[in-house]
Amino acid sequence: MKIDLHIHSNFSDGDYPLKKLIRKIKRKKLDVFALTDHDRTDGWLEARQRASKAGISFIPGIEITTEWRLGVSKPFGMHLLAYLPDKDNAELQAILVQNQNEREVRLKQYIQNLQRDYPALTFDKVASMSKEGSTLGRPDIARVLVKLKLAKSVGDAFDGILSKRSKHYVRNEAPDVLEVIAAVRKAGGVPVLAHPSRGDGDKVSFEEAVFDQMRQAGLLGIEVDHIEVKGANREWLVAYATKHNLIMTGSSDYHGRKAKKDNPLALHTTTPEMLKRILELGTGTEPHLEKKF
Ligand code: AMP
Ligand code: ZN
Ligand code: FE
Ligand code: FE
Repeated sequence: MKIDLHIHSNFSDGDYPLKKLIRKIKRKKLDVFALTDHDRTDGWLEARQRASKAGISFIPGIEITTEWRLGVSKPFGMHLLAYLPDKDNAELQAILVQNQNEREVRLKQYIQNLQRDYPALTFDKVASMSKEGSTLGRPDIARVLVKLKLAKSVGDAFDGILSKRSKHYVRNEAPDVLEVIAAVRKAGGVPVLAHPSRGDGDKVSFEEAVFDQMRQAGLLGIEVDHIEVKGANREWLVAYATKHNLIMTGSSDYHGRKAKKDNPLALHTTTPEMLKRILELGTGTEPHLEKKF
């Protein structure tokens, strides 16, 4: 049983449209996948239809851009996975629309900064290389930098021109993670903190009190098996999740190998026991299941 619960299509910053993506998922012999595009749900319908035709189980998901603000002078970004929420819930919808708008504002500002040194880069070029209406992020700028021969690959663009340390960098402003966790729960969804890590190292991601407050807000799980979660950090997260009986997931965070070469499909997977818990707790929308869990 192969279960991968964190996958992106071109409805956000993934390389592939759903048709091609689901063909790849089928070829990889995944039994269950979740579509978790950034800050939107409009890939769900097509994903459900195609998954059903291909005989693969499908879990509707979202990766929501959020940040931690409490007690820190500079907020830090967190990604929150939400499985099986009601996409029409008004509060959740408002968060997603706000994030979609903020992503566009941020990308325009980011491109303006870059234009001072790379005048060939324009917002129109970035928009025209991305699916219409998709949520935009740094990978979308990176693709244009590659096309303009300003970077050799998307990965190189991230290491250089688009690095967080570069003077051009603009961060995404986002809603407070505690509010988003609560909103996801109210919408019947299962909030799972995505890839908790600080930088590239294996040092423990956030203080225990941060996780305690997220749990009190309604956090139900942690993505402990992910390429960015390593060593002592991973051990700490597994111990914390075990102590508090949180769901633990493992996923690839697949975006296509052009966008993220080190994240092949099924790089990490989730156990059927953990999926079963998500299915029991997620009541906002129906999954498409090929078998009973
Ligand atoms: P943003 O949220 O726009 O700042 O960009 C972050 C997005 O880029 C996330 O969805 C990551 O999955 C993706 N990403 C992060 N690092 C890399 C990398 N080295 N190469 C390609 N994509 C990356
Ligand atoms: Zn992404
Ligand atoms: Fe993420
Ligand atoms: Fe992701």
